[in-house]
Amino acid sequence: EIRVRFAPSPTGMFHVGNARSALFNWVFARQSGGSLVLRIEDTDAERSRPEWVQGILDAMAWLGIDDSQYEGPLFQSDYVGKHREAIDKLLRDGRAYYCDCTRDDVVARTGSSHKGYDGFCRDRGMEAAEGRAVRFRTPDVGSTVVVDLVRGKPEFENALIEDFVIARGDGSPVFLLANVVDDMIMGITHVMRAEEHLPNTPKQQLIWEALGARPPIWAHAPVLVNEARQKLSKRRDRVALEDFRAEGYLAEAMRNYLMLLGWAPSGDREMVPWDEIVAEFQLEDVNPSPAFFDVKKLRAFNGDYIRALPLDGFIEAAQPWLVSNKAPWPAEAYDPAVFAAVAELVQTRIVLLGEVVPMVDFLFLGEPVSDEDAWSKAMGSEHAAGILADTIERYSEVEWTADVLKTELETLGAGRGLKLGKTQAPVRVAVTGRRVGLPLFESMEVLGREATLARLRAAAQ
Ligand code: GLU
Repeated sequence: EIRVRFAPSPTGMFHVGNARSALFNWVFARQSGGSLVLRIEDTDAERSRPEWVQGILDAMAWLGIDDSQYEGPLFQSDYVGKHREAIDKLLRDGRAYYCDCTRDDVVARTGSSHKGYDGFCRDRGMEAAEGRAVRFRTPDVGSTVVVDLVRGKPEFENALIEDFVIARGDGSPVFLLANVVDDMIMGITHVMRAEEHLPNTPKQQLIWEALGARPPIWAHAPVLVNEARQKLSKRRDRVALEDFRAEGYLAEAMRNYLMLLGWAPSGDREMVPWDEIVAEFQLEDVNPSPAFFDVKKLRAFNGDYIRALPLDGFIEAAQPWLVSNKAPWPAEAYDPAVFAAVAELVQTRIVLLGEVVPMVDFLFLGEPVSDEDAWSKAMGSEHAAGILADTIERYSEVEWTADVLKTELETLGAGRGLKLGKTQAPVRVAVTGRRVGLPLFESMEVLGREATLARLRAAAQ
């Protein structure tokens, strides 16, 4: 039976690389009828925080991986006793030894800080003592071949693998070891994770073997890079899933896009229904070369996903922006019927759900937003005052439909030798506060005669 795990460390924002690993594992488990374990690797007590744990759970649930989809969360810190037992066994079996070398000692002996450990304590036969680390004794000959579904069978020469630390001087187990022991206890058959961990893999496989267990099959998904082909970094690049979510990316668009980072569906397609992705995805087809996390493409993708929603689905997806306390209008000003009247016009014009707000704020705010720049450009023209005065007069009488409002403004502009675009500029700014947005006449129809006239009069003063 296939068992995979997703093993994030709760030491920061959940980022797109984490999300891709979670998705690859989830899809792989789903399609094989296997199971997914969520293990929170929280043994770095200084950097781990409960809010980051919550962030992991929320982000996963947003992507569709809620707690019905995995076992757990299990916490690495609950298994420290098991990690110690494994370290003791390795010591007993002569596969590990105590070491009291400091980094400076090693550098002084090898003349370099890059050469790694020189094996000084290997055969000193030291006993346990406060401050002594434990190192794994790597074989001097032969090589370690890992089976990697993405990379084939990378081979690592054992003589080049240093005797690495498995427990610190204070006795605490290090990541390399804890991660293996947990995978062993949890019955993990396939370890799918990011390329960054590939250098750890031969060391970890040696630990598996030394503990007498059969190592898992590995799969290392390609590193994610930005447009300058630099590895994505939290400091430089926008990578937090939460930020994308807050801007109004749809979970469906996000997860589809994330699956493309290293993998491609059949038939030159990119927007692919989730069921088909689950059916088609193959770890063996993942490309090991760096994958470009292309935010522009993700944006375009999101726009396509927004337009593909049925209208009621779009209205529902937009709700968090319309009724949250972050909306710029008072909660009671929001009217679902008013939004429904313009929803289709909005849906075709935005790329991110967050863009709904500036498009419809004129409908729910008592007064339109005041944008100095828009105002001075539109009202500065010699015709503005005349257009506003005439519009107020005509709009007080005519039938209140978008078509009529448009014809009126056209006629009125023609009398001044102006095209519609020019004529409507001051009207648009007076009514919506903005120079661009939804089609003006539909907007005024929905806003209603009274409110429209009030704004035109305010602007005409
Ligand atoms: N906690 C490690 C990480 O987040 C997990 C590595 C692994 O999946 O084995 O990078």
